[in-house]
Amino acid sequence: TIGVRNYDIPALRELDVAHHLPAQSSYKLQQDLGGSRIITHAQGSTIYDGEGHAILDGMAGLWCVNVGYGRPELAEVAARQMEELPFYNTFFRTATVPPIELATKLAGLLGGKLQHVFFNNSGSESNDTVFRLVRTYWGLKGEPNRTVFISRHNAYHGSTVASASLGGMTFMHAQGGLPIPGIEHVMQPYPFGEGFGEDPEAFATRAAQAIEDRILAVGPENVAAFIGEPVQGAGGVIIPPPGYWQKVEAICRKYGILLVSDEVICGFGRLGEWFGFQHYGISPDIVSMAKGLSSGYLPISATGVSSEIVEVLRASGEEFVHGYTYSGHPVSAAVALRNLQIIEDEHLVDRVREDVGPYLNAALQRLADQPLVGEVRSIGLLGAVEIVAEKGTNKRHGTGGQAGPIVRDHCIAGGLMVRAIRDSIVMSPPLVITHEEIDRLVGIIGAALDASM
Ligand code: PLP
Repeated sequence: TIGVRNYDIPALRELDVAHHLPAQSSYKLQQDLGGSRIITHAQGSTIYDGEGHAILDGMAGLWCVNVGYGRPELAEVAARQMEELPFYNTFFRTATVPPIELATKLAGLLGGKLQHVFFNNSGSESNDTVFRLVRTYWGLKGEPNRTVFISRHNAYHGSTVASASLGGMTFMHAQGGLPIPGIEHVMQPYPFGEGFGEDPEAFATRAAQAIEDRILAVGPENVAAFIGEPVQGAGGVIIPPPGYWQKVEAICRKYGILLVSDEVICGFGRLGEWFGFQHYGISPDIVSMAKGLSSGYLPISATGVSSEIVEVLRASGEEFVHGYTYSGHPVSAAVALRNLQIIEDEHLVDRVREDVGPYLNAALQRLADQPLVGEVRSIGLLGAVEIVAEKGTNKRHGTGGQAGPIVRDHCIAGGLMVRAIRDSIVMSPPLVITHEEIDRLVGIIGAALDASM
């Protein structure tokens, strides 16, 4: 059984400080806290730390463990594939079985023109693939000036040089001299921020117009693609106003610009459809997928590509000189395929749309009157509780970003893992979360808000 191994947690925490540099972390804070919280095992929607705490995982790991923890069938598939063939590459006119099967499965789920799939290991790598693929495509198509990407402020597309540049996080740009040239960032469609107090339809028009204005400023003949997350996740669960995505799609079509949907968080049921673009009824040319693709059981990402783009590459006869040793890793691909089967067998996408998504939304509304709460918002199983300094406004406490972590720490102490993004408490629980667990999640956030006043 799980969780029976006896670890020397105090010693491990010391070694964590001595040798281990965790991702996206302050190493001073790691040291001040005497090492990271060590998670030792998990089951369903609950994680357990080495000190014996059971914590409801309101984040599904890092927006990724869609089918929940403790799925023996995924471990079995991985073991079987490792025994049969742990690795072979796809570089030199070879392939293995699982990536072919997984690409076929994804082409069916994506539908329409998105009939081709390129594999990578992470969401960041998928967006690096997008970056090179798009520019390669335009070059081969005879429009080499089309190099500029348009993205949004506060977008998150990853942590590598190209993907962090595509992202719109200024604090990330500040490290390493980003963004790289050729990327333009425009206004995000944030109703409680840039659109505060504005009629949603007017704001949708204005936010989309910002994209068109930038296209015209750059010159449409220089613009390669627009990239966006259907709902900005790491930016704080920014749900665009109704109509925004239709307007964005129309602008891309008007100027012949490729539309890229970053589905790394929104894909695989999170919004109550297989993909976020399906929820919004748009038809992108390229999609990035990761996280829920394997429910985080192994690293794998996929870049879905339209037939038109692939036709141009085929017609050119050129090699696409891009890819990773582990592109289409057979074990990861086999696990991803089995994970998609679980999502299908258990109707988890429908469950989000018809059951737990609306249930979370209704439960969160119970927090709306809390004096610290400026807005609660959710879509599918993505949610946020935004804390303000003054009810009825969107004014932040202090310079902003101080109140969120206080509430978050109360949540964790109360047995709930959530993230604070500036002053929003955000959540993205496993798709298998129960009603009882949703009630508990919302109850703990409510108590944490009360305790923070
Ligand atoms: N794109 C989006 C929308 C994401 O949310 C993330 C990660 O959170 C990424 C890309 C990067 O994925 P990874 O961390 O797997 O590189």
